[in-house]
Amino acid sequence: MVNVNSAPAALTGSDPRPKAPATSIEPLYTRGHGHLGRLYAEQRQLMVNQQIIPRGITDPRVINAMLTVPRHRFVPLDSTQFAYRDEPLPIGHNQTISQPYIVAFMTDAASIPGNGRVLEVGTGSGYQTAILATLAAEVYSIEIVAPLAQQAERTLRQLGYDNVHIKQGNGYAGWAEYAPYDAIVVTAAPTRIPSALLDQLAMGGKLVVPVGYSSQTILVITRHLTGFSTEYTIPVRFVPMVGEDH
Ligand code: SAH
Repeated sequence: MVNVNSAPAALTGSDPRPKAPATSIEPLYTRGHGHLGRLYAEQRQLMVNQQIIPRGITDPRVINAMLTVPRHRFVPLDSTQFAYRDEPLPIGHNQTISQPYIVAFMTDAASIPGNGRVLEVGTGSGYQTAILATLAAEVYSIEIVAPLAQQAERTLRQLGYDNVHIKQGNGYAGWAEYAPYDAIVVTAAPTRIPSALLDQLAMGGKLVVPVGYSSQTILVITRHLTGFSTEYTIPVRFVPMVGEDH
C-alpha cells in the first residue's frame, strides 16, 4: 500500500514560541540559486533516482518536471527539510501534499500532450499543478478549500507559472467553460467516478482518478470514439473528495 494522503498526525509537540519571521529566509528560497538552491536541486535528483525511476517512471518529460519544480516551496516553512522525502506531508486544513512518486505516477498516466489542456481537481498545495503546468499548455485547477486555493495561487504566481488557472469550487462539476480537456487528474478520492469529468474529457483524453473509500485504486479512464475504457492501476490512500451532490 502506498501511503499518499493518509490523515497526517496533527503537528503537536512543536515549539510554541513565536517563529522567526519568514521574510528573513524568503529571499534565499525565491532566488533558487546559491547554496540552498543547489542543495534542493541535489535533493530533487536523489528523489528522482531513489523514488521515481526505480518504480518504473521513465518518461523524460515527467522526470524533467520532477527535477525542476521546487517542491520545498509548496510545503509549510517548518517542513521544508522534509519536502523531498518519500511521503505525503501536512499542508494545513487537514490536507496533504501527495507523495512525490504518486504525483509522478498520475502525471505519467495522464499522457499529457505538450499542447494540451489539463484539468486538475484538488489543487491543495499547488505542487501537482506546477508539475502539470511544466508539461501542458494550460492547466485549470479547482480547490474546494478557499485558503488553500489562495495560497496555491500565490505560490504558483511567485514561481512564475503563468499557464495555471485556479478557482475555488467543487470539482464534482468539473470546469465546463474550458472543456474538453486532454487530461483530467483528480487528487482527492471520490467513491465513484464523477460523471461531469467524463463529459469534459476530450476524445483520446485520459481521466486519472483514485476511486474508493478508505483505500483506493488509481483508475485510468480513456475516452474513445465508441466509449470509455478503464485500466485499474496501483492501490493508494488519498483524502476523500468531499461535497458530492447526491
Ligand atoms: N495535488 C495536491 C494534493 C492535495 S490533497 C498537492 O499536490 O498538494 C487533495 C485536495 O483535494 C485537498 O486540498 C482538498 O481540499 C481537495 N478537495 C477535496 N474535495 C474536493 C472537491 N470536491 N473539489 C475540489 N477540491 C477538493
